[in-house]
Amino acid sequence: MNQDFETLKTKLAAITDLNLAASALGWDQATMLPDLGADQRGRQLATIGRIAHGMLTAKDTGDLISRLSSWANKQPAEDFDAALVREARRLRDLEVEVPSELNSAMSEHYSKMYSAWTTARPRNDFATLKPLLEKSVELSLRFADCFPNLEHPMDSLIQYSDQGVTVRSTRQLFNELRQQLVPLVKSVTSAKQLDGDCLSGEFDELAQLDFCKLVAKQIGYDFQRGRMDLSPHPFMTRLSGGDIRITTRARRDDLTDCLFSVIHEVGHALYELGIDPKLDGNLLAGGVSSGVHESQSRLWENCVGRGKAFWDYFYPVLQNQFPHFKNINQSTFLAAINRVEPGLIRVDADELTYNLHVMIRFDLECQLLEGKLAIRDLPDAWNALYKSDLNLDVPSLKDGCLQDVHWFSGRLGGAFQGYTIGNILSAQFFDAAKAAHPNLDAEFSKGHFATLKSWLNQHVHRWGASLTPDELVKRATGKPMTIEPYMSYLTAKYSRLYSL
Ligand code: ZN
Repeated sequence: MNQDFETLKTKLAAITDLNLAASALGWDQATMLPDLGADQRGRQLATIGRIAHGMLTAKDTGDLISRLSSWANKQPAEDFDAALVREARRLRDLEVEVPSELNSAMSEHYSKMYSAWTTARPRNDFATLKPLLEKSVELSLRFADCFPNLEHPMDSLIQYSDQGVTVRSTRQLFNELRQQLVPLVKSVTSAKQLDGDCLSGEFDELAQLDFCKLVAKQIGYDFQRGRMDLSPHPFMTRLSGGDIRITTRARRDDLTDCLFSVIHEVGHALYELGIDPKLDGNLLAGGVSSGVHESQSRLWENCVGRGKAFWDYFYPVLQNQFPHFKNINQSTFLAAINRVEPGLIRVDADELTYNLHVMIRFDLECQLLEGKLAIRDLPDAWNALYKSDLNLDVPSLKDGCLQDVHWFSGRLGGAFQGYTIGNILSAQFFDAAKAAHPNLDAEFSKGHFATLKSWLNQHVHRWGASLTPDELVKRATGKPMTIEPYMSYLTAKYSRLYSL
């Protein structure tokens, strides 16, 4: 067993190295790469992907995993070695089902589509993107055909990002959430509206980045194991246990975009930085699912970063850095950064309406893959849902169904549910941390964030991908995922802000 395990571990570490090298090329593509380098970069990434896929699906890798599986299945969930075998089996079982010809066709299609989208979106040019979207639906359905035992075509895509989640479970979750969320959105939007004017102004970009670095450091981001750069869309990437990077963007007329992007990405980065070093360099060194990953970014961005205690400490620092805020009191600022305003753009949405944007996309993806909606009817279907769910008219395609990078750069389906799962879990984890440490708010107001970070390190981060998401949530919070902590958090917060 020992020799087989060591051989498998070495192979998996090499596959992990290839994946991390691809991430480094991806980071470079998003931050530094000149335009004319894009084609060859796409080819280099595809080559690495093919080699890694070949190594994982090779017969000798499969034989090793088979020989080790009965041992691994008998070990407790927290045994890292056994977890590595189980995760290798799960990933390999997925990969062997998908012909490499389909994988190549998909990556070629998505890179072509992404470059078409960057020019077509600003021109509201649906005609160019329509045949490409039709091809995406066809490819997603071919992908689904590789997993004939799954109930819904989109389940084949969801299992890659959120294991254990299905269309059925997501629908149930979303229905439950919608029933409680929609009345709350209605009461908030019909109450006296909060003023966001104090956020309008001109803010030097370099000063914004300085302030954000200070915040990042204070809440626990370790610049010796990471760095912060600029990119059009903020993201976090893991290049190794000692190199977890974040990016942001700074707009002169909007201080909150940069600030909350940084807190969000730091939340993702703290997860990766907190993974047990024993897992480093192998398959388990990474977040366990999109939903759990997003819970960490949302927890820091919303539960902490939009809270009063956080600003008790940081508001004087902000006022010092930006004289614009000198005569604006903290409660006006707090109301402004938390105000609810139904809008067209998902990434700009407030905490309360964000999930409605996600649900619209999820419903449309399901309908497309079920054959109930044709791509030619997508803009109308999109606009109708924005009218019924958010009471908004969509004036242009670029602010409508062409807005999200997801549909134009990767598989159609299987990604959006992770955002709402993340929001729900953020409150559940935060509640559990507060139950263990009732004085967190008092600590935040003094600029101490280490107690919360250690709780998350201990109960969420350190496991990497060694526990399943369900197991992780149960162990950390004592119960399976539930919307109750999230709805109580939203209800308490917005009742207070809007005097409901
Ligand atoms: Zn995120």
